[in-house]
Amino acid sequence: MALARRFPGALAMALARPFPGALAMALRAGGRGARLGSEPRDAGDSPRHRDLREALRKIIDKEINPFVDKWEEEGQFPAHKVFKILGQAGFLGVDKPTEYGGMGLDFSYNIAVAEELGNIRCGGIPMAIGVQAGMATPALTRFGSHELKKQFLIPTIAGDFVACLGISEPGAGSDVANIKTTAVRKGDEYVINGAKMWITSGSQADWMCLLANTSEGPPHRNKSLMCLPMNLPGIHVAKKIDKLGMRSSDTAQIFFEDVRVPCKNVIGEEGKGFTYQMLQFQEERLWGVATALTQMETIIQETIEYTRQRKVFGQPVLHNQSVHFRLAELATELELLRSLLHRAVALYVEGNDVTKFASMAKLKAGRLTREVTDSCLQFWGGMGFTSEVLVSRFYRDLRLMSIGGGSDETMLSIICKYMDTLPRK
Ligand SMILES: Cc1cc2nc3c(=O)[nH]c(=O)nc-3n(C[C@H](O)[C@H](O)[C@H](O)COP(=O)(O)OP(=O)(O)OC[C@H]3O[C@@H](n4cnc5c(N)ncnc54)[C@H](O)[C@@H]3O)c2cc1C
Repeated sequence: MALARRFPGALAMALARPFPGALAMALRAGGRGARLGSEPRDAGDSPRHRDLREALRKIIDKEINPFVDKWEEEGQFPAHKVFKILGQAGFLGVDKPTEYGGMGLDFSYNIAVAEELGNIRCGGIPMAIGVQAGMATPALTRFGSHELKKQFLIPTIAGDFVACLGISEPGAGSDVANIKTTAVRKGDEYVINGAKMWITSGSQADWMCLLANTSEGPPHRNKSLMCLPMNLPGIHVAKKIDKLGMRSSDTAQIFFEDVRVPCKNVIGEEGKGFTYQMLQFQEERLWGVATALTQMETIIQETIEYTRQRKVFGQPVLHNQSVHFRLAELATELELLRSLLHRAVALYVEGNDVTKFASMAKLKAGRLTREVTDSCLQFWGGMGFTSEVLVSRFYRDLRLMSIGGGSDETMLSIICKYMDTLPRK
């Protein structure tokens, strides 16, 4: 009854379906987000959002964080196992329709999930969960046929399938329009040739949301997104890439050699793939910013705790004015970014195009993650240079905020377009 009052409509209905799991149990218990304290911060921090976050936090603390160091060392986390746990509890489809196993909530709840995932003690696992729940599936959810959603979306939300997103290539990352992979129509199939690079979860994935050229037309109108099962003949996972950071997330290079996929696997309309992907990027960028906010907050907090107990020249490091001024400044920047994120999310939930604000938030997050991790690592002295502390892991992992899903320069180019400062073609 209390549950139905707090979660009218879709969520209550979703909770009645056979995926009650940890989320439903915690919601029934009426939990509250302990970490956030009592200050309501924004529209994405209602009691309902906090209940969701608290339920997720329990899973993170029990099923993920105790194993992170091991998975980082091994260079891969078991995506099927972790996603099944998250899927059963409902966290892989918070904003997806109930018809396909989701909770039918709005996008701000997905952002609450992304923020909470920032409490995982590495960057790689939240990134891979982000691909699954917020990057490989928005276009399929919005434009895919019922059949495709039954085949790919339902098992992805349930955590039975691992999804990956195939956009970047060896010769094209920032310049998405310039990808070379082709999908040539032969009868009722496409024949795919080419390669994808930097594919998160690529060596464990069951399917890929693939962007390929399906005609010779102009580069913004010749591409299609399609659901590609990863067990088809002609798909070769060439190598798992050894990386500076995000070590527990597998990142693969993948080749396609005459891979045949049914034409009905195209998401929405053929030729609209570039446009769909640009829309999909909005969610990817907002998701990434949300996770990074929590990661930065944790680093600042752990730095305060460390410098409070570490004495240098007879007093805690923290008590030097230059140290606490710097931490205060970083915390202020973080709150500004949080405000921008939630403004963008609120506008997006209302149905607006938020490409400009999502790009601004992603740009700021790219810059700020570097500043926060660099400044904080300095205050840890020699300890900051060891693998024992989270700050050194995030110093490596969060460097990706300025590259992945579009570099800082790509964000600046998009913002410029919206400001109409670029020469018109
Ligand atoms: C760990 C990891 C995971 C990833 N996961 C995925 C994934 O799952 N799926 C996927 O499709 N891709 C993925 N990527 C790829 C990522 O999105 C690309 O790396 C990113 O888009 C940049 O492309 P690029 O690496 O080809 O760099 P390039 O396009 O070669 O750009 C190199 C640099 O040039 C600069 N630059 C770019 N544009 C401009 C400009 N207009 N003006 C000035 N300078 C500019 C930037 O500094 C940029 O970093 C991942 C990457 C990494 C490292």
